[in-house]
Amino acid sequence: MQRLAEPHPGPVPFSVEFYPPRDEQAEARLWRAVRIFERMGPAFVSMTYGAGGSTRDRTLRIVGQLARETTLLPVAHLTAVGHSVDELRAMVGGFADQGITNILALRGDPPGDPLGEWIKHPDGLEYAEQLVRLVQELGDFNVGVASFPEGHHRAPDLDHDTRYLVSKLRAGAQYSITQMFFDVDDFLRLRDRVVAADPEQGAKPLIPGIMPITSLASVRRMVELSGSVLPANIDKRLAAAAGGGPDEDREAVRAVGIDLATQMAQRLIAEGVPCLHFCSLNFAKATSEVLERLGMNVMAA
Ligand SMILES: Cc1cc2nc3c(=O)[nH]c(=O)nc-3n(C[C@H](O)[C@H](O)[C@H](O)COP(=O)(O)OP(=O)(O)OC[C@H]3O[C@@H](n4cnc5c(N)ncnc54)[C@H](O)[C@@H]3O)c2cc1C
Repeated sequence: MQRLAEPHPGPVPFSVEFYPPRDEQAEARLWRAVRIFERMGPAFVSMTYGAGGSTRDRTLRIVGQLARETTLLPVAHLTAVGHSVDELRAMVGGFADQGITNILALRGDPPGDPLGEWIKHPDGLEYAEQLVRLVQELGDFNVGVASFPEGHHRAPDLDHDTRYLVSKLRAGAQYSITQMFFDVDDFLRLRDRVVAADPEQGAKPLIPGIMPITSLASVRRMVELSGSVLPANIDKRLAAAAGGGPDEDREAVRAVGIDLATQMAQRLIAEGVPCLHFCSLNFAKATSEVLERLGMNVMAA
């Protein structure tokens, strides 16, 4: 990821994750967020890819627009689920046609029930490592992969999880971005495991995924769907802020969420991470507030 090494405002570079909007109103919101972040100088922005290709056209169109119409460096997520190798080749070709050279290569989860049984497409790929190799065969791409501070929920144990991540890096991935997590120790232990397993691969950027929480109900749902955990002490703090009423007190939850994200980011910066990757949910406000508290929001300076 070339731009991680370039000059940046603040103690470390940051990046932002977006997802393809479903309708015009959501798309307008995305572009408002994009324009705000653009002025803050992220190292890159990434665009997710819906399960089984459900957002294929939107992901392709929007990363293309990001490449052509903004100064941002777009990274396109691509998942193997539900696609034959020929379809994956066509997708990669489509990204190249849009001027996209940065791809995050993922296996993806089963569509419908992300925790359900994984079934490989009969003419497709089994693991992200194979997608890393395929993308590289097709051109001069800069490839990243996913990593999991708590271990991937389908991995038998942390040793296997580490070994598979190292295999993806050895296959040519240049960096990894983690699943969002809430316990910095989990991230640091992952980093130690990768360095111990293979110092050369461990030297590649391991980028922490951070989500400033703005709703208890949604973070609980997201965590459940991704097979990870919300630590009990954090759930308790958020639940206390949410209150006991029928609707959660969003302002109070948000305040706790922003505090948590800021404290995590401060510790990660002190631990020397190469970049902070923010899951923005297509909103700029919460992430900007965290960046401001970190002294990384050039707009607030
Ligand atoms: C930063 C980030 C971005 C993401 N973006 C998206 C997105 O845009 N769209 C989307 O649908 N999903 C996305 N995901 C979710 C991701 O697709 C799922 O978590 C998926 O279950 C794992 O993907 P992977 O690329 O890590 O798969 P893999 O690395 O292939 O791993 C899948 C499972 O197989 C195991 N495994 C790997 N290699 C081997 C092997 N050689 N032998 C045996 N077992 C093996 C792993 O331990 C793991 O349990 C993202 C995740 C992250 C962290």
